[in-house]
Amino acid sequence: MVEIAVLSKETIDQIAAGEVVERPASVVKELVENAMDAGADAITVEIRDGGTSFIRVTDNGCGIPKEQLRLAFTRHATSKIRSAQDLAGVRSLGFRGEALSSIGAVAKVEMITKPKEQWMGCRYVIEDSQETAAEDVGSPDGTTIMVHQLFWHLPARRKFLKSNQTEGNHIAELVERLALSHPEISFCLISNKAEKLHTSGSGSLLDAVYQVYGRDIAANLLPVSSGDGKFRVEGFLGNSTIARGSRSLETFFVDGRYVRSPLLSRALEEGYLGYLMQHQYPFCVLQIVTEGAAVDVNVHPTKQEVRFEDEIAVARFLTELVRERLHRREDIARIEAPPPKEEPSPLQTIPMVVEPFEEKKLSDIRAKIADEIRSDTPYRQQYEQRSFLDRKTMDAHRLIGQVFGTYWMVEYDGQLYIIDQHAAHEKVLYERTMAALADKQMTSQMISPPLIVTLTKAEQGLLETYGSAFTRLGYSVSPFGGNEFAITAVPDNMFSLDVRRMFMDLLASCAQETMPKDESLVMEKVASLSCKAAVKGNHRLSEAEIRALIDELLTLDNPYHCPHGRPTMIAVTKEELEKRFKRIVS
Ligand code: ADP
Ligand code: MG
Repeated sequence: MVEIAVLSKETIDQIAAGEVVERPASVVKELVENAMDAGADAITVEIRDGGTSFIRVTDNGCGIPKEQLRLAFTRHATSKIRSAQDLAGVRSLGFRGEALSSIGAVAKVEMITKPKEQWMGCRYVIEDSQETAAEDVGSPDGTTIMVHQLFWHLPARRKFLKSNQTEGNHIAELVERLALSHPEISFCLISNKAEKLHTSGSGSLLDAVYQVYGRDIAANLLPVSSGDGKFRVEGFLGNSTIARGSRSLETFFVDGRYVRSPLLSRALEEGYLGYLMQHQYPFCVLQIVTEGAAVDVNVHPTKQEVRFEDEIAVARFLTELVRERLHRREDIARIEAPPPKEEPSPLQTIPMVVEPFEEKKLSDIRAKIADEIRSDTPYRQQYEQRSFLDRKTMDAHRLIGQVFGTYWMVEYDGQLYIIDQHAAHEKVLYERTMAALADKQMTSQMISPPLIVTLTKAEQGLLETYGSAFTRLGYSVSPFGGNEFAITAVPDNMFSLDVRRMFMDLLASCAQETMPKDESLVMEKVASLSCKAAVKGNHRLSEAEIRALIDELLTLDNPYHCPHGRPTMIAVTKEELEKRFKRIVS
């Protein structure tokens, strides 16, 4: 027998809470949005243990009158709209009347609130959707709401939470975005008693960007401001130096609301086409202001998605705006354009002619061979055994020259070897790094002044996870306040490269899911990535360096493959050439 029954209020609240309250950051989002809707211009968010054990949001907004407190915690109770018609013009961040009731269903919630007009404030406590206290207390104007032990009686929900660190990072990212969305509000974030962010609330978006991301980013921005009657776009575009390997620094607000929008991202990136390298994504903080009817914010319970009435129009407008703005800017290097004329690299100046065989080397070899013929082993056998890798005979290789800016031709022992400079360089660096790691002899090169980089919360998480691998490689990175980190030392063999680019590339590679769990494998992976990055950043090697590189390559146990499995060299035998020229028929 199937029995149909109406669910209890608690069950309904918990089901609804599942949609609204996914993790501590969702609680913070709802509470801060309420504070913003309440007209606050100073909002403090305090969390402990990534928000799992404690969240406090204090504002100086309008407060809630005592007699309406109970209603505020009731599902679908809101002061912000009265009917569906109001949705079209809704300017407040909240309007569904679900947040407080949902949070009250999954945690112990305590609120102290006082409207200006009232003498006394009120303390209201709700636990498991049950009101447990409602009393008069002295309090400043505004509202403080505290959420204790989120999901304390819902182990299944708790299980889905990530580490406190990760949950805390989500909250920090969120507060950063909120601070950027409203530069006129002063935001303060305190995590485990330490202040993580404090914006001035000066009203200037550039100030907010500086306070959130630091000077490195703030110094590389282009302001934009443009409108076409339907949309207005205000904010900043980053130049190519602060581009990232992911979309983490693309921030869009639509009517003051942070949104994730593939449409806007694509339109932005389209505008940057030709200005960034492949797989690089720009920095932006853009506020898009629409006329009320042109956008629907009621697409998703957390309202992080929006639907534009005319998607093509908004995308085209954004792309054009970005393109036009970047075009006006001369100091962003265009990748499409021919690269600026560089000093001719020593590599390119090596003539492609066969150099005369050096007499001295020749006589050395003759002497060696003569040595061997004296020896016990028959000469022929020794000759056979002599391999390309044999240090003794290495001198006999002859560097012919470079082709296509990348490949080195080497003649040795009846074979023509074609060596890929990049793969060879990577291989040599990698072997050197691994050998030094094994001997615990990694050396660092101090850089002075230190390089200051701004890391997103996600990047900070990666640094935390893989930090020891970085340290063992020779990096020294320390917090520099806010989201800034100071790199004071880099691995020795990577000195003189673009330290910032390489470090960022390395962090981005750590984000890939193929990252192994095992500590020593992580080391290997980071070492190989760093070598790859080092090579990418260093196209120019002098002829002397190339010679040394080939010498070193040839001493390796397996010189034929780079750490990523690509061949470092291919060999063409004399016989093969002769066959091709039909000098011999096989
Ligand atoms: P919504 O924000 O969608 O209206 P909520 O459940 O988040 O729904 O809040 C319910 C109501 O409680 C709001 O409409 C608002 O009137 C009141 N409220 C909540 N938080 C605050 C606050 N910090 N200051 C003043 N009023 C608040
Ligand atoms: Mg709300």
